[in-house]
Amino acid sequence: MSAPAPGGRASSAPLLGHEAEPTLFELSSPGRSSWQLPTTGLPEWGLEDLVPAPHRRTAPLPLAEVSERDLVAHFTRLSHRQFSVDLGAYPLGSCTMKYNPKVCDSVAALPGLTGVHPGAPASLTQGWLALLVALEEALCEITGMAGATLQPAAGAAGELTGLLLMRAWHEAQGERRRRVIIPDSAHGTNPASVTLGGYEVVTVPSDDRGCVDMAALRGVLDRDVAGIMLTNPNTLGLFEEDIAAIAEAVHEVGGLLYYDGANLNAILGVVRPGDMGFDIVHLNLHKTFATPHGGGGPGAGPVAVSLKLVDFLPGPRPVRLGGEIAAAGSGDGGERFGWSVPPRSIGRVHGWHGNALVLARALAYIGVHGGDGLRRVAERAVLNANWLRVRLAGVYDVPFDRPCMHEVVLSAATLRKRHGLRALDVAKRLLEEGFHAPTIYFPLIVEEALMVEPTETESPQTLEALAGALERIATEAARGTGAASGAPRSTPVGRVDEARAARTLVPTFDARP
Ligand SMILES: *Cc1c(COP(=O)(O)O)cnc(C)c1O
Repeated sequence: MSAPAPGGRASSAPLLGHEAEPTLFELSSPGRSSWQLPTTGLPEWGLEDLVPAPHRRTAPLPLAEVSERDLVAHFTRLSHRQFSVDLGAYPLGSCTMKYNPKVCDSVAALPGLTGVHPGAPASLTQGWLALLVALEEALCEITGMAGATLQPAAGAAGELTGLLLMRAWHEAQGERRRRVIIPDSAHGTNPASVTLGGYEVVTVPSDDRGCVDMAALRGVLDRDVAGIMLTNPNTLGLFEEDIAAIAEAVHEVGGLLYYDGANLNAILGVVRPGDMGFDIVHLNLHKTFATPHGGGGPGAGPVAVSLKLVDFLPGPRPVRLGGEIAAAGSGDGGERFGWSVPPRSIGRVHGWHGNALVLARALAYIGVHGGDGLRRVAERAVLNANWLRVRLAGVYDVPFDRPCMHEVVLSAATLRKRHGLRALDVAKRLLEEGFHAPTIYFPLIVEEALMVEPTETESPQTLEALAGALERIATEAARGTGAASGAPRSTPVGRVDEARAARTLVPTFDARP
């Protein structure tokens, strides 16, 4: 390892200043590196012996050359400039960001779990297999389903898997259906997945209560409909009260019901998609079950299905080995586990077995809470959202003012009309108050939408502080202080041009050979 850079630019930079952090390229010094390999004493081959001339670079790649010391300082400084779930409330509606118990990280970091190669034979990985089977069973119990795949790496990957299952099932009935129904309040991944799955999207509008318009739904249902994708509570945070009627109508034309369970903290332990009549459910373990999302980190989007779809699940699946095999395989009388490919499997949807450590964290989370604890998660998530709804009514518009589930959609439409305050300004100004911004301008059907999901992990004191900050922002606008228009001023990066980065692409270096 090379020595720390003496008095380098990085080491003299202030710890938590608002000055721009230099890029690694600016910190770069020719010849400096973070590692050195010892010489092997073996004969060396030159590049010219291995790679034909037309494929060789003529100049070295312009990569940053920094010491390990400067590299760590650079990323540590950047990490201190982030807002994170560990730092404060993160009321990001629809895409649950909440505090995750550290004990789940400790479990996922156990060397017995991290040190296993996914290709190791079942005989050497009985512990991992037991864990995966236990998680599948727990998720089936939570969703009211018969079997699940743990392979999909995210919510959208789960959606595509679910749609492929839908297609395989219809084909097994000798049918090729072309259309999938989605309500207009749906998350953007739903129509994208439907299209990727080879189906046509049919949109049904919401009624004035924010629920699926039943008359419109009946109007588009026919035997060309493969199924409907719903989330309940829907993306307005409202429970679809007609769900039983919806399920009956869709099943009547031979369609399947897909449940987008990305944000399960609304219903955990209270009601199950399977009992509502759904056939396919995906869950975002990286929202509800102890893995934070965002930043592109690993996720997991298991898909659980009703009995008639189990044979189509992706494989191989971790399974409990039954009967004689169990007796023969285990000297200790304990259970044995193995892999099995379902008879009509749609095939693999992920290399190996999915993002396994996210799965381990989820099982730890379920185990730590237990059934009653999971129910309390949902009850508190819903209570917190409703507390905010009532506390902020009259300050912001509440477009659908009836009990919500785990999130509440507010709107700055009136504030904009009267005082020019936009949802975007509210979000930026909130950063100065020490809170992450809520989701804004989504769902698309609400003007100047502010979608607030306080989550179950925040205390009444934090909720009051958040409500107080939102109230202050509205009062400033009414007084015409203009405070929100220049926000955020106290963050390392101020108001950015929303579109410039996408329109003016600046290559960081020339990567041509
Ligand atoms: C987050 C989310 C998704 C997509 O999940 P990804 O893991 O980001 O692919 C789908 N539906 C809803 C309702 C979501 O909130």
